[in-house]
Order: sequence, then structure tokens, then C-alpha cells
Amino acid sequence: MSIIKIMDVNLSNKIAAGEVVEKLMNVVKELVENSIDARSSEINIDLIESGLTEIKVTDDGTGMSKEDVINSLKRHATSKIYDDSDLFKIDTLGFRGEALPSIASVSKMEISSSMGDIGTRIVIHGGEEQEISSSDARRGTTVTVKNIFYNTPARLKYLKSTYTELANIIDYVNKMALSFPNIKFTLTNDEKMLLNTDGSNNLLKVINSIYGLSVSSKMVKIENVSDDYEISGYISFPEVNRSTKNSLTILVNNRVIKNSEINKTILESYHTYLFKDRYPVVVLNILVDPSLIDVNIHPTKMDIKFSKMDYLKDLIFKTVSRALQNLTLIPKYEQVSELKQENIANNKVDFTNEITEKVNIEEIKLNFAEPEIFVSEKQEEIKKEKFVMIEPIGVIHGTYIIGENEIGMFIIDQHAAQERINYEYYLKEMGKDTYDTIDLLIPIKIEFTAPEYLKFKENMQALQKLNISIEEFGENTIIVRNHPIFIKKDYAEESIRKIIDVVINMGSFDKEKFIEKSAITLACKMSIKANEQISLEEMRQLIRSLRETNNPFTCPHGRPTIISFTKYELEKMFKRAE
Ligand code: ADP
Ligand code: MG
Repeated sequence: MSIIKIMDVNLSNKIAAGEVVEKLMNVVKELVENSIDARSSEINIDLIESGLTEIKVTDDGTGMSKEDVINSLKRHATSKIYDDSDLFKIDTLGFRGEALPSIASVSKMEISSSMGDIGTRIVIHGGEEQEISSSDARRGTTVTVKNIFYNTPARLKYLKSTYTELANIIDYVNKMALSFPNIKFTLTNDEKMLLNTDGSNNLLKVINSIYGLSVSSKMVKIENVSDDYEISGYISFPEVNRSTKNSLTILVNNRVIKNSEINKTILESYHTYLFKDRYPVVVLNILVDPSLIDVNIHPTKMDIKFSKMDYLKDLIFKTVSRALQNLTLIPKYEQVSELKQENIANNKVDFTNEITEKVNIEEIKLNFAEPEIFVSEKQEEIKKEKFVMIEPIGVIHGTYIIGENEIGMFIIDQHAAQERINYEYYLKEMGKDTYDTIDLLIPIKIEFTAPEYLKFKENMQALQKLNISIEEFGENTIIVRNHPIFIKKDYAEESIRKIIDVVINMGSFDKEKFIEKSAITLACKMSIKANEQISLEEMRQLIRSLRETNNPFTCPHGRPTIISFTKYELEKMFKRAE
């Protein structure tokens, strides 16, 4: 007697639902992607209780005939041809005809759809058809998913808090809005508007709808091409940053992807502008011939491999770091205007910073002319233009130089400024191919612990390349007899020790990183400390040297070196000007 039975369709749908619906976000995702596939220009997503009670997605796409509405609920029914080479067309992330029947099997679903003629309305509960009738003729489709998992309570328990589920949904819809600026998206929860884009195909406007004016007004447009890749998008001024990687949106051929190497490259381009563990707001679209990418589709994340990755990384690094170099990075002392505050209050939602900052674009009248990106050739000139020499007046709190010029008043953190100057000095010196050296009168003896010594020996050559002559001297000890002249004499021992620490802590050796890290450490060590007295002439010299640096506006750790108050701003604060 056979004990193997063919599984009941509805049961197998329920099982599939376990894969399709891990989070409420997945339901939203499936429905929204169907709407996009149906070439909609407007998609409205309305949730009740973060989607737990109801998820409703309404679109103005092609709609379905009565037959198709019925078929769409059958397993493996799809109008979309699946082909490996089509991977990056938009209709490829779905579950190949599984989504609707799976979701229908674990919820109370209603579909109304019309192709512009008499529409069809179908109601199914737990996969069982309840009724089918005609509906209105508005072209498009509305899918309503109520009481998800009502018939599989065990699954219900797996959902995270409504708070987390909603945060995931918002994040997903935001990213879709960034991928499709030509589609108007709205998202509401319990009738509260969470996102409202205008579908005008202006990416900066979408960024504004998501992140608010405080971010969108501080984005720089980037654009560049190489043989294989074309990149474009917006990157934020370093002062605009977030605590999670979520603020990085990477699109490949307009499709959201995740790729840690690209994230890393972006962060590296921001290096020295940003604090550790802070992330800029970036929307980067990469256009590439699909044959150069290998897509690994996972239901929830979208990872992707690029051939010629190094070229891509190079292109991104060059483009982003150049754009940053050309920015005016003196942060302004800024008072949040009353209007802005009001708007922020009106749009308040309590769970992500991003959303509380949302402001109403009509009221603020942001000028959406695309922000300028400076061309880098005449960098030197531009820099001088942007940073007119500042005349120092004095120091307050033993730390901050107060200065002025015809533009306004400036506060310079003398330590941060010195760090920037020294950092670029060391970077330049250490980057050279050869170094002059100086012999030490008294050789320096440095002792290590055993594991340190082993690591050090692995990378000892690197130090020899810097012309630091090193001799092994007994157990776990070395002797240094000379060093390159760029190491300041009075700090020779300390500096060499620092450089060696960098080598020891580095793991696998990478010359560029080694130089970068050493330069940061040395710069910090060698800079004026707070409360160190310096004369007016020394201040002048400091400001002059700062002007000569490539990035005068931040220290190597990303802190600002200068804060400005323009004359106009001062007048405004004292109510002398409107
Ligand atoms: P897939 O998207 O993988 O084809 P689904 O189960 O998500 O599978 O959808 C099944 C079919 O139903 C789709 O292929 C499409 O023809 C149709 N469909 C689903 N949603 C919509 C919609 N919003 N507008 C038009 N057709 C839709
Ligand atoms: Mg689908």
C-alpha cells in the first residue's frame, strides 16, 4: 500500500507562503512588484496596523481580464517569461507565479482589476474562493490582503513587532521610490502619510520626500562613465550622515541591490570626512550590460557579483572622492527655521530619524535645479575662492581661534586644523618613492610581546621601504638606527613606535592603507593640543597652511575644522536683517 500522497494544492500553497511571507514587507514587495510589472505610473500602498490587519495596494497599471484574475491565483501561473538573460528586467524578482496564490492561502484576499472595461472582483479566504463579481471600470488593480496568517496562527507569531514590520515596509517602499522616480508612490499607515512622491522622474525630489529638506538640500549630483560602467546619483555632504548602512541605496540597472564591496568603496571615498560608524546618504545607480553581472536571487536580499569589479570600484571611488573634494565643506551655523520645525512636527512618526525630518516640499519651495558639481581641474583656484584668508583675532577656551574676513566670522578648531595639515604632510611624504634619512645619535630600542613581534616581522619589509633601518636585537626586540627626515626629530621614537603599531594592527599589509593610517596617527600625535598657547602670527601661519591643504574643512577623523557665520547670518541673528 502506498503511503505517499500528492499534496493538496492549498496545503502546498501554504507551505510556499512560508517562503514568500517571512515579513509583512514581503507581501508589500510582491504586490508592489506586480504593480510595477503592470507598468503602473501610480502605486498607493495603504496599511492598517502596520499591515497586520490590512495591506492594500492600488495601481493604475494594465489590469487583468476576468480570466486572468482567476488564473493569477493558480500556482505557477505567470504572464512573465522567465529567462536568465532577462534577470535584470523588472519582472524577474517575483516568485514565478507563486506570490498571489501563496499569500491568498494564508489570508483573506480580495482582488479587483480592470483593463478599462467592466472589472472583476474576487474574494478568497485561506485559498478558497468566496465570491466573484464584477467591479468598476477604473483601469488598474487593487489587491487587499486582510488578516494575514489568520488560519496559520503559528506563523503569526513569527512576525516581529508591528514597529519592526512597519519600519521594514517603509524602508522597502522608500527604496522602490528611489529606484522608480517616474512612478508616484504613496504609503500610509492607519491613514497617516509616510511617503508621497510625485512621479516626476526627479530623483532629488524623491530623496527630499524620504529624507527631508535638511538632507536633500545637501546632496551633490554625481555622474561618470568608464568603458563598462555608467554611474549616476546623489551623495550627501559629509555632515549629513546616519548611523546605519541603510542610508546607502545602490541600484543596478534601476534595481535595488546589496553589495558590501560597493558600500565599502563609498565609505572609503568618504574616509577622513566621516566619523567612524557613520554613513552618508547615497543613492547610486549603476548602469551595466547585464552580461557583466551575476545575480544571485534570494527572496529577501539581492546580492550580485560584477565582473571587472575593480574597475567599478575605481570609478566609484574616483567620482565620489572628487565630488567631495570640490565641496564647500565649511559647515554653517544653522538655526532651524520656524517653518521647518513646524513641518517636522506635522510629519512626525516616532520610529526613524529619517522620517521625522520630513518636510513639505511645496511650503519650503526648495529650488530643484540640480546642485552644481564643480569640475576639478581648477581645484586650486576654486579652493582659494571658497576659502578667503581669515584674519585671526584671538583664541577662546584655549582651543578655538576666532577669525574674520569680509564674508563673516569663523571659528577654527586649532587642533583639528593642525591635524589636517599634518595629515596631508605625512601622506605626501610617505607616498614618495624615496626618502632622505637621518641617523639617530642614540639608536632606539623597541621591545615587543611575542605575538606582536611575529606580526611585525611579517611586514618588516614595509618599514625598510620607508628607509627606517631596523635590526633584530635579541628576543622580540629591535633596534632602529635611522629614520626618514619627515619624521620630526623630537618625536622620532614616539613616531616610529606609532608606525610600527600600525603595522602590527593591520592584518594583511596594504601599502596605501598603511600610509593612510600612519599619517592619521602621526598627525594626531604631532598636532597642537587644546590649551596650548599660540601667538597671532602662529595662528595666521596655521590658517595659511590649512588653506593649502586639499580638504581644509575636516580633520582626518572627519570632524570640522572651521565653522562659519556669514555677516548676513550674524545680522539676522541680531535682527538687523530680515
Ligand atoms: P509573478 O509575478 O511571478 O508572475 P504572481 O503570483 O505575483 O506571479 O502574479 C501572477 C500573475 O498575476 C502575474 O504574472 C500577472 O499576470 C498577474 N498580476 C498580478 N498582479 C497584477 C497587477 N497588479 N496588475 C496586473 N496583473 C497582475
Ligand atoms: Mg509577482
